[in-house]
Amino acid sequence: MRLVAISLSGGTFPCPPDNREEEILFFRRAREDRAFCEVQRAGYELLLQFQAMQPWPDVPEQAVPAPAAEAAVAADFLPPELRVPSRQEVAGLMMRWQQPLVIEGEVRTCPGCGAYRDWIVFCLRDDSVWLRCRAGHETKEPGLDAAWYNRNSGPVDRFHPSLEEGLRHLGH
Ligand SMILES: [Zn+2]
Repeated sequence: MRLVAISLSGGTFPCPPDNREEEILFFRRAREDRAFCEVQRAGYELLLQFQAMQPWPDVPEQAVPAPAAEAAVAADFLPPELRVPSRQEVAGLMMRWQQPLVIEGEVRTCPGCGAYRDWIVFCLRDDSVWLRCRAGHETKEPGLDAAWYNRNSGPVDRFHPSLEEGLRHLGH
């Protein structure tokens, strides 16, 4: 039986191979392409989720539901760490920012302790950006927004069930 596959990325595949082993490789590759597209799409949906977020002070420390239910519907070839949490599970994004943060020509300092470097920067669901100094003072930063955060952050590489775990992961 001859099978014809169409590249999901829109590129042109060569003619379907004749022997069985190549055929398997061929379709495995298409499957991996599909997995990659899924991950990309999930990342994009995560960005869209920002808009529904609550302001930081109102966000409680939420217990995260067991991942079993969602893991069951995830594609079988995606490892659990690539699973993207649902909207309810994501309160915001965070990254460490070690150097001084210059906004509109001014170096930001913590109003609580005067620190000017080694921040944790949060981007919440309402697009607001918050700074947290090493001593744990949290300050909303109106000079920054989600667009700035997205330009300056790397890809999301890890999800944490609590703020504390996220801070620990980032070295705070
Ligand atoms: Zn401080």
